[in-house]
Amino acid sequence: MSEKIPYKIYLNENEIPATWYNMRADMKKKPAPLLNPATHQPLTAEELTPVFCEELVAQELDDSTAYVPIPQEIQDFYKMYRPSPLVRAYCLEKELDTPAKIYYKFEGNNTSGSHKLNSAIAQAYYAKKQGLKGVTTETGAGQWGTALSMACSYFGLDCQVYMVKVSYEQKPFRREVMRTYGASVTPSPSPTTEVGRKILEKFPGTTGSLGCAISEAVEAATSKEGYRYVLGSVLNQVLLHQSVIGLETKAALDKYGVKPDMIIGCAGGGSNLGGLIAPFMGQKLRGEADYQIIAVEPASCPSFTRGKYVYDFCDTGMICPLAKMYTLGNGFIPSANHAGGLRFHGMSTILSELYDQGLMEAVSVEQTSVFEAAERFARIEGILPAPESSHAIKVAMDEALKCKETGEEKTIVFGLTGTGYFDMVAYEQFHNGTMTDYIPTDEDLQKGFESIPRFPGNME
Ligand SMILES: *Cc1c(COP(=O)(O)O)cnc(C)c1O
Repeated sequence: MSEKIPYKIYLNENEIPATWYNMRADMKKKPAPLLNPATHQPLTAEELTPVFCEELVAQELDDSTAYVPIPQEIQDFYKMYRPSPLVRAYCLEKELDTPAKIYYKFEGNNTSGSHKLNSAIAQAYYAKKQGLKGVTTETGAGQWGTALSMACSYFGLDCQVYMVKVSYEQKPFRREVMRTYGASVTPSPSPTTEVGRKILEKFPGTTGSLGCAISEAVEAATSKEGYRYVLGSVLNQVLLHQSVIGLETKAALDKYGVKPDMIIGCAGGGSNLGGLIAPFMGQKLRGEADYQIIAVEPASCPSFTRGKYVYDFCDTGMICPLAKMYTLGNGFIPSANHAGGLRFHGMSTILSELYDQGLMEAVSVEQTSVFEAAERFARIEGILPAPESSHAIKVAMDEALKCKETGEEKTIVFGLTGTGYFDMVAYEQFHNGTMTDYIPTDEDLQKGFESIPRFPGNME
């Protein structure tokens, strides 16, 4: 019948999408708007532009434009590391002895090692276009800060990264990659901001948190002329930029007439998953096709599977807008888990609304089982996966094994978001048998829920 599908389906350079796709345009019920925390009214563009770049604010608020042209400069940058390969996991299928057909879209083929570069370059471009001097951001484990520092150096922008202090000290390699690309990296909390000084005074010796680093980065951006704040996940604009992953995936599958049954991705703030599923969800929303879509999250930070769908702050400093999302509460502190990119308490408002409408599913998995899957995958497919990505690997393997039992020849596509070279301490703990699985109790979760703001219509 059809020709044999190659191990790697590469698109040509000129097949990189020229537009991003905005799922919101096809959603009948739109995601809830961001609210001003003081007035509880939807935020206007005027209120957002002191913090974010103008063009990015427009993208954030645009629920109706389906296809957004990718500026030529961004397309040119994409050509340095895209199209990314869609791999047919023949070796894994054989190892699992499954009739399922497994594909993964690999986003780790760039120096930052993850999909985050797809949005970093877009955000840096719009900042440059606006004539700004630079941008500020926070980073936890460091993937986002690394991607942003690469993007800023390309456009000659200053890049100031507030890095959670514990990571700054424990992950010197990522820190030095950022500095190689010209970024300045400050351990957070720091004495360089008002909010940082307050936190240091109140909690001397604290090793910091992502929420605190966000608060510092926002203050740094808004208190300096010519700077804006940028964020690597959660926001609508980030999902828009990441749609390049899904558009390429669909184009590659279409070349060989392959239609997936199931699409699986890990979910931290939801950007890679939102990007991977975008064109498929578009078809689903328009009633043209159906797919089973599964978000995978850590059992230690189960926003979808155990969170509440309410308005909450995106940061612990409570200075960011309120977003309606599946959340564990801005005060929720996840137990130590090595998938740093999946430790956010909330979730993209777009994915939250799609999940609430029953258009996608979610499962949570425990960390040691994720590393078992990661190691098995590394040994058979060659790629050393990031702990975050390995959540998707784990569930894709589970689904393929179910097919073995039922004899179903399902086509499974999953997102392999990045490489794990900077996560070897986690792999070490796994190998030494010292890795733990802590699942929060209902009481633990209750404490987080108590930090969710209460106002008419929310959490009453
Ligand atoms: C940041 C990160 C994630 C999670 O972020 P999303 O916004 O949910 O995609 C997943 N994988 C890797 C490798 C990451 O760096």
